[in-house]
Amino acid sequence: MSEQNPYDNAVKHVDRVGHMLGLNECMIEILKRPKRELTVNFPVRMDDGRVKNYVGYRVQHNSARGPCKGGIRYHPNVSLDEMRALAMWMTWKCAVVGIPFGGSKGGVICNPKEMSRSELERLTRRFASEIQIIIGPKADIPAPDVYTDAQTMAWMMDTYSTNVGYSVPGVVTGKPIEIGGSRGRDEATSRGIMYVAHQAARKRGLDIKGAKIVVQGFGNVGWNAARLLATEAGCQVVAVSDSNGGIHDPQGLDPALVMEHKKRTGSVEGYARSESISNEGLLELECDILVPAALENQITKANVERIKASIVVEGANGPTTPEADEVLWQRGIMLVPDILANAGGVTASYFEWVQDLQYFFWTTEEVKQRLKTIMDDSFERVHTAAQKAKVDMRTGANMLAIKEVARAIELRGLFP
Ligand code: NAD
Repeated sequence: MSEQNPYDNAVKHVDRVGHMLGLNECMIEILKRPKRELTVNFPVRMDDGRVKNYVGYRVQHNSARGPCKGGIRYHPNVSLDEMRALAMWMTWKCAVVGIPFGGSKGGVICNPKEMSRSELERLTRRFASEIQIIIGPKADIPAPDVYTDAQTMAWMMDTYSTNVGYSVPGVVTGKPIEIGGSRGRDEATSRGIMYVAHQAARKRGLDIKGAKIVVQGFGNVGWNAARLLATEAGCQVVAVSDSNGGIHDPQGLDPALVMEHKKRTGSVEGYARSESISNEGLLELECDILVPAALENQITKANVERIKASIVVEGANGPTTPEADEVLWQRGIMLVPDILANAGGVTASYFEWVQDLQYFFWTTEEVKQRLKTIMDDSFERVHTAAQKAKVDMRTGANMLAIKEVARAIELRGLFP
């Protein structure tokens, strides 16, 4: 077992929490393993005429509570174990916020930064066709994740629809609004992060207004979280980073100006009104709230003793290893776990799917209000469960989620 293997980490949590809940070994085994895994090897024609082979995955962890739901990731480090972990976390996430989905995840091993738009389109369309045998609006509904976006979802929706012969907007979420996307979906993960950061600060007796924020990752989740925390919650964003490096200004950065710079130059690095800082250094900055919003395994036993934030809100999936969790808990640092903190994304995806199935669309205000109710209620439920069991919030969230999924499996019974 390695601290860095996210699936090993995910399984460890199920083992621990399953035993705490008194589940039998059979049930724990069911919960630890994905229900279905599909590996696809497929060719894509590159712009120069060469044909390159790619490997992709779609893993469905559990569908006891409803259709599977989970993002699609394009990254050189995508692996089957990473997909298994992310699919399992989706199962727990949907249960924590009480939406009727199970969990899945998919991805392709590729480097989208080195591919042209037309190569990415061909890769996406072929991958969508390859996994079409297990996805669908009633079976498994993809969404964007790292290095995929609304355009990727539009290509997937069009490919699926072309293959079946009619338009199926509900096959993916995170689509552009013009083809059945939901208002508010693009920023929903980050809006959810802002709501839970608010609740966490309140529990800590910390004024969110003026709170110092550090954000790792300046993609969809990180950038929108920085923007909303600064503009709507009145926080001071003192440092942000992306895969090239980070920037720091103790007086506060303007996320919108940093984004303008990133759009112009391709990175936050070199932004004028700041000093540069490494990603390692950024995590260890003095601040009130740290939002890791990039990838897994960022807070580990190697750096956890140097984390100085008072609250960690996990924008990314799996940014903290179980060993580091333990130390944060002992050090009295409050951690709002990924399956709660970033659940705003899947919640708005659920809203999008409901709207697609009904062909009836909501206003931005309706989306925001429903999202706030679900995030606030879920935070309170997890916080109360954790306090009652005298455990950290990740364990509290896992307890609620695993109990709910185990109950659904029991109620449905065993076939045949
Ligand atoms: P994205 O591709 O839009 O952004 C990822 C960002 O992380 C980029 O800015 C990239 O430069 C940066 N990055 C990559 N490696 C880094 C490193 N080593 N150090 C610092 N920064 C690094 O992806 P996203 O959709 O924002 O997803 C980020 C995380 O949030 C992932 O863990 C994802 O699973 C999770 N998440 C996303 C959503 C969503 O709605 N998009 C929902 C829930 C969870």
